[in-house]
Amino acid sequence: MSDQIQDLGPLPFPGRPHRGESGKGFMLRMAEVNGLELHEFYTLLQLEPKRAIRPQDTPVLARIFDCRVSDFDELVVHRNYATHCVQRHTFQGHLITRLYLFDLRHPKVCPRCLDEYGFARVAWDFTLFLWCPIHQCSLVECCGACGEQLTWFRPGIATCVCRSRLTDLPGEHEASWQIKVIAIATAHQGHAGMYSSPALPPDWGQVLGVLSALSVDGVMRLIWMLGISQDVDAGLARGRRRPNYAEAALIVERGIDHLLALLQHVGTGRLGAGARVGLLLKALERMKEDGATAGDRRFAASIIESLFQPRRARRPGNDEKQLALALEVRQ
Ligand SMILES: [Zn+2]
Ligand SMILES: [Zn+2]
Repeated sequence: MSDQIQDLGPLPFPGRPHRGESGKGFMLRMAEVNGLELHEFYTLLQLEPKRAIRPQDTPVLARIFDCRVSDFDELVVHRNYATHCVQRHTFQGHLITRLYLFDLRHPKVCPRCLDEYGFARVAWDFTLFLWCPIHQCSLVECCGACGEQLTWFRPGIATCVCRSRLTDLPGEHEASWQIKVIAIATAHQGHAGMYSSPALPPDWGQVLGVLSALSVDGVMRLIWMLGISQDVDAGLARGRRRPNYAEAALIVERGIDHLLALLQHVGTGRLGAGARVGLLLKALERMKEDGATAGDRRFAASIIESLFQPRRARRPGNDEKQLALALEVRQ
């Protein structure tokens, strides 16, 4: 670190991150209040713009923003290696086992949240989080005025590169109930009490019951593995490319529909026609090995046991017990 950055004092307008604020969003918000473009701000702080905030960056950030190092605890992205050298990230407080489950390059926003709270939420950076449970509207990834995809390198947290106000964007198209359910399941830890439940079909309670037992990583990984189509886009399936809104919506809808079908087959020891059994089994076995939490790993094990293992090897009624056990883990 150079002397120049060591000498840098607090900014004219310092500030600390809000609870649940996106790291990228915080940097953009602070650049804006201090009258700088985001790329100028990164240059000033000698940080790499493409990179998330790392633990070693926090002492300098605390001084510049005139707050405590611990204020950045939730904002940093830790990289660590688990078994088999699999790279895992602690992404703003959530252990994330697959890089493609979050997207730091293509921001999505809730125009109503930006208007009401004035900051970007970390939940919006999750690939399959597409709907705001607080305002019950779809997130937006393109500016309604210029049609361009939003970028973090825009003039302000609520301003597009074309200078249009993102808070003026009209409410987006109506989201499917599958998109609402995964948003509620992903957000329930961070936003509890901030929203009321929307009207959803009768099946949603069963799906949400299962998803609520999993970590954020477990929810998204399960829906990703059930909803991704290897045939449609191999780059997407292998995590080489992040899905856009429409692609992510399709993954969520197919994933939740498959989850419903899966739940109907728990206890029968067989899968419905059309289920890609080999791929699903492989994905579940990986999750059983390296799921983010003990609950996620146990859930994967119980699904494998109830759906894939020969019926004669199990006692009658074991499926329901296994699933009930998996569901109890985090309740
Ligand atoms: Zn909102
Ligand atoms: Zn625009």
